[in-house]
Amino acid sequence: MIYSFFDKIKHMFVLVKFLLLPNLCLVCKNTVFSQDDICLDCWHKLEFITSQTCSKCLERLSGTDVLLRLNHLPVCPKCYRQPPFVDHAKAVFSYTKEIRTLIIKFKHNDSTELSMFFAKLMANTGQELFTKSDLIIPIPIHNQKMRKRKYNQAFLLAKYLSKITGDINKLQPNILYKSKPTRPQEGRTSRQRTYNIKNSFSLKNPDLIYNKNILIIDDVHTTGSTLNECAKILKKAGANQIYTLTIAKVQKDATMSVYDVGM
Ligand SMILES: [Zn+2]
Ligand SMILES: [Zn+2]
Repeated sequence: MIYSFFDKIKHMFVLVKFLLLPNLCLVCKNTVFSQDDICLDCWHKLEFITSQTCSKCLERLSGTDVLLRLNHLPVCPKCYRQPPFVDHAKAVFSYTKEIRTLIIKFKHNDSTELSMFFAKLMANTGQELFTKSDLIIPIPIHNQKMRKRKYNQAFLLAKYLSKITGDINKLQPNILYKSKPTRPQEGRTSRQRTYNIKNSFSLKNPDLIYNKNILIIDDVHTTGSTLNECAKILKKAGANQIYTLTIAKVQKDATMSVYDVGM
């Protein structure tokens, strides 16, 4: 292969840049080859959800519970007795220390470049849900929070996801909006979370969602209170099926308490 003078200069520039400004792992700061990536050690520590989980709340199923079904999907006894408004939930990872580090960086440190990293993984996990959905709606944040944070991480995920899957025309970020500011969810029990978030979302142009299957996008599925509150509003306005897709699920049995997820 013959390299031109300009190719040589380009390669030299890449090498110098790598030596002077090495790419660092987004979690542990070890050197990595490509930008906005994580090292192999951290990659191995990420925990993909592989065990059987409830299709609605994403809690792990064990024992004879793995046999319970609702509309042909596996469910836990709690969701079997009282089905939530969400019909089918999926998440890529279990909420571990490494994922927590990445999500907090994504959410609070302007590390918006992480949206593509997460979106690629979410597109893979949520393939089936994208096919079944007519609309993609990110969980909105209140204007007050938007002014402070400058971006809505759920919108960024939904935007990149819909680009990757070729569903950009399904993206509807303005139908659902946060009409009432709420206090942070961390430190609250599941019941308190449900109460805190209640009636804080509203709809614009609700006729657009009538009889539609909707995929809701968010970053973390903790107890599911927020996702379920949004699903409730959408269903009350006539939506058909509601699916949810998130980066990570905080399992009840995780060593990290669900009430201390640093969100
Ligand atoms: Zn690392
Ligand atoms: Zn469940």
